[in-house]
Amino acid sequence: MKDLELVKKGYANGVAPNSPLSEDDKWKMVEIAAKKYGEFLDALGCDWRNDPNSSDTPRRVAKAYVFDLWKGRYEDMSGITAFPSDGYDGIVQESMIPVESMCSHHHQRIGGKVSIAYVPSKDGKVVGLSKLNRIVEHFGRRGAIQEQLTVAIHNAVDKICEGNIGVAVMIDATHNCVSCRGVKHQGASMQTAKLSGCFLNEDSARAEFYKNIELAGKCK
Ligand SMILES: [Zn+2]
Repeated sequence: MKDLELVKKGYANGVAPNSPLSEDDKWKMVEIAAKKYGEFLDALGCDWRNDPNSSDTPRRVAKAYVFDLWKGRYEDMSGITAFPSDGYDGIVQESMIPVESMCSHHHQRIGGKVSIAYVPSKDGKVVGLSKLNRIVEHFGRRGAIQEQLTVAIHNAVDKICEGNIGVAVMIDATHNCVSCRGVKHQGASMQTAKLSGCFLNEDSARAEFYKNIELAGKCK
């Protein structure tokens, strides 16, 4: 799907310059990145070649980045079909979608939950529920800052759900760069939200969004 990206190709939190990559291109990228990661370990004084646990680590790390951790940089989000709302004009919400991401600043894990809601107009569009999960995966699986990730997910939902009268996205996540390094504080979490349309302008819509998140939390 076109025009869902907020940032220029090649930016750290965007797609790679030549994205989408073929499988061949991905494996070529793994080989190059593995070589460079070996050099990175060399620079850290790590004799990785002679440790059976580490001798294949550069390749393992490179593979994890290309096929899992940053896969959203190398793949297109496959087509997301929107369907007519057939007169439904209430809230559509999915709460507590798991997100696994990595901060652009330190390359440490960002992990948490995303809640997404939109209100279609009577003659607008709705999407299959799991498509919201796929949008989270697409933008989460790359370097990100939580603030930008929140806006990227919001704007994608806004574009795909044509004719909507409001979109709300809330992310609640912990950052390993806070818990494992620097200040080393365990348990602190970060909340970010991007609201538009009725969620921004109507107290009742905004309250319903946050109430649904609370309800979803209680049902776990
Ligand atoms: Zn960080």
